[in-house]
Amino acid sequence: MTFALERARPVLIADYCKGCGRCIDACAHHCILPGTAVNPTTGLIPVRFDLEHCTSCGLCFEACPEPYGLRPFVAGEPPPPDPGMAPPVAPAVAAVPDVSRPLPRSEPLVIKGMYASAIGALLAGCRHFYGYPITPSTEGAELMGKLLPPLDGVFLQAVSEVAAINMLYGAGAAGVPATTFTSSPGFSLMLEGLSYMIGAKVPGVVVNVMRGGPGLGNIAPEQADIKLACRGLGHGHTHAIVLAPATPQEMLDLTREAFALSFRYRNPVIVLADGYLAQMTGKVVLPDTIVQPGVPGWAVTGDAAHRANLICSIFLSEKELEEENRRLLAKYEAIGAAESRADLFRCDDADVLVVACNTPARTAKGAVQTLRARGIRAGLFRPITLWPFPIAQLAAPLGAARQLVIVEASPGQLEDELRLAASHAGLRLPPVSRVNRLGGVLPSHDEVVEHVRSLDAVSRGAVP
Ligand code: SF4
Ligand code: SF4
Repeated sequence: MTFALERARPVLIADYCKGCGRCIDACAHHCILPGTAVNPTTGLIPVRFDLEHCTSCGLCFEACPEPYGLRPFVAGEPPPPDPGMAPPVAPAVAAVPDVSRPLPRSEPLVIKGMYASAIGALLAGCRHFYGYPITPSTEGAELMGKLLPPLDGVFLQAVSEVAAINMLYGAGAAGVPATTFTSSPGFSLMLEGLSYMIGAKVPGVVVNVMRGGPGLGNIAPEQADIKLACRGLGHGHTHAIVLAPATPQEMLDLTREAFALSFRYRNPVIVLADGYLAQMTGKVVLPDTIVQPGVPGWAVTGDAAHRANLICSIFLSEKELEEENRRLLAKYEAIGAAESRADLFRCDDADVLVVACNTPARTAKGAVQTLRARGIRAGLFRPITLWPFPIAQLAAPLGAARQLVIVEASPGQLEDELRLAASHAGLRLPPVSRVNRLGGVLPSHDEVVEHVRSLDAVSRGAVP
């Protein structure tokens, strides 16, 4: 059988198209576009046609290495049989929901923060860990290495943090709860992978234990990754919920909850701890349930039912990428409205509002109690989500406060988040001052107390 290739427009036989794109390159009139849907028969992504400007030049036929990928269609003649003309329709796959199972009661544990985080992950149904050891997060990985194999889980020490985050990407795309534990220099290496995960709408939990920087810095605690976690998750319009624990109990609770949030929004979640918190030992009460994870309908699991699912962050059409980014921004809005969290301690009548998170929040809480004992109306506002910043919860105490004191182990990364959120919310801030230390030194109780006592408003007697 011969075809009049010079005069024919192409017809795609989708079941024979590998999506190699050679025909796209061959067409000078941009009539052939990258595919956007998986052909459920082959699991591949065939190209799409827009033949309005097709000149029937035949170059795409020449370019196609598949004998039946492209067939000619001559006007006036019946088209060849074409099982692929109809766009492939992915059958909807029903999600298998998570099941919450009762956990037998046990005595509280006395464990360090990283162990609590590892146990929180296990209780959330996580059985996949990919990581590269880095102090001060390594103990968590060690515990996962001991516990996961007997649980039929996967513990894999990757060759680098870059490899680890991409393994997390793969596991998340398969719909399984997975995590990695790292510390600041390792977190920096993961940012590109996080951007890909956000773009591809893939869940995963990253526990980042902040240590001194820049560069290798040291292994003492800092809060110098707040900027990265809240504003710098790789290229593009990227955000993830950032949870800031302040106790070993919260290391467990927030890590556990991070998995639920990650799957609810199909987005990575960052648990942002610090070096003291990771190593600090404290009492931890286990929850009364454990999660048996289900299988999301969107997962790429490798079986026939999920074959048409596609996990991908590439949108070559400008219009489609703009639409995808608008969907992403709408998701961020929804997260901001539903997931902003804060812990308020004696803020109701506070003249001096102290703001702190992670370990510095523990110090600040002690300082607030000391100041109260000395007759100074101080209160502590502790953001639990650093992104989205819980500005709505801050609005009421902010309205009454005469001074705002930000306590942090960074030159102002938490302050920047607060100021940005307040600016977007149209909130006016009272005079702001700060107690901050760097390089692994944390603000002390006495430094916070003395700073507040030295404030003008206090010394002038405006605050008794
Ligand atoms: S026949 Fe020519 S103009 Fe038409 S789609 Fe193929 S390469 Fe493009
Ligand atoms: S060259 Fe053939 S196999 Fe490759 S994308 Fe085009 S039609 Fe499909």
